[in-house]
Amino acid sequence: MKQEVTSVPLSGPYLGEREEELVLEVLRSGRLSLGPTIDRFEELVAERVDAPYAAAVSSGTTGLHLLCIAAGISPGDEVITSPYSFAASANCFLYEGGTPVFADIDARTLNLDPAAVEAAVTERTKAIVAVDIYGYPCELDELRAIADRHGLALIDDSCEAFGAEYRGAPIGSHGTSSVFAFYPNKQLTTGEGGMVVTHSEEEWHLIRSLRNQGRPEPGGWLEHVRLGFNYRLSDIAAALGIGQIERLDEILARRSEAASRYTELLGPVDGLGLPAADDADHRRSWFVYVVLFPDSEARERVVAAFEREGIGYNRYLPSLHLQPYLQERFGFEEGLCPVAEDASSRSLALPFFTGIEAAAQERVAEVLTSAL
Ligand SMILES: *Cc1c(COP(=O)(O)O)cnc(C)c1O
Repeated sequence: MKQEVTSVPLSGPYLGEREEELVLEVLRSGRLSLGPTIDRFEELVAERVDAPYAAAVSSGTTGLHLLCIAAGISPGDEVITSPYSFAASANCFLYEGGTPVFADIDARTLNLDPAAVEAAVTERTKAIVAVDIYGYPCELDELRAIADRHGLALIDDSCEAFGAEYRGAPIGSHGTSSVFAFYPNKQLTTGEGGMVVTHSEEEWHLIRSLRNQGRPEPGGWLEHVRLGFNYRLSDIAAALGIGQIERLDEILARRSEAASRYTELLGPVDGLGLPAADDADHRRSWFVYVVLFPDSEARERVVAAFEREGIGYNRYLPSLHLQPYLQERFGFEEGLCPVAEDASSRSLALPFFTGIEAAAQERVAEVLTSAL
């Protein structure tokens, strides 16, 4: 008998006995922090994304912050970034006194448009923080070329893109410093957590020191050679991460299958924009499933129906330059990034997680279609 679907959550982690077993092992070992489980998790991530160095941190946000420090961003420096993102990709350099310069996005990929980035470069530009939004790789090579031409640092906020591929190789392998995040709605989770991936041994040592109170590497417990932070990941969290990495292929395959099912169900719906398809250069890792309605009025009609039916949703993503704290401080106005603003007014994340059932997706599609 087909199970009746009553309510569908927006998101949720995918955990099993293996994760429980690994966490229990750490608890019994007594090495809850700065232990061998962290090293093992770092090795597994580095191996998986084909990068030489990885450093675990307490969140995606803290990882991005440390990369901004490593890039030398300081007060007065301009940093070009995407307005169509989560706040952390701008906050990471605001912490260091950087000034955000929002360049508009490409309407197909919803990632930074390299031409807009190039046009935004000034004498004060110090860095570009790119984002692989919704797990779709950004235009890394074009952005790298712009950064090199102007002597800028390039940081890739890959917090939504673990497992994605750009030009046939994993995000993380291309030489650009990246950060992955492991909050429970991400492809893989450690509860809270993140991973900085770098191709520079020097940067790797710096990140390891910064996350650990500025202690030297190697060095003593009460020796501090720079202003550091406690941005460490615990071994308990790392154990969870190891369990998740072990079945990453299964996780990514299930997510990709769920995405295909939505695409099949929603493809025929008139006027509904679906996530950008993969092409020769971009292979998405499915983080969320975000659709674009013809206008915000249509979106709100669907939101009202989801509310009535107990279906999870979120209006991913508001444009950052119009967030109150940034508008108040920098005076950004509507119209600054029309492509991003347009997407923000019409986009909606549907329930999407590794263990989502076909029946739940059918219910979502049914409610969405009849509301339209
Ligand atoms: C999740 C995410 C982050 C980091 O989030 P944390 O909650 O700090 O781990 C950063 N940028 C983007 C685009 C994200 O989606």
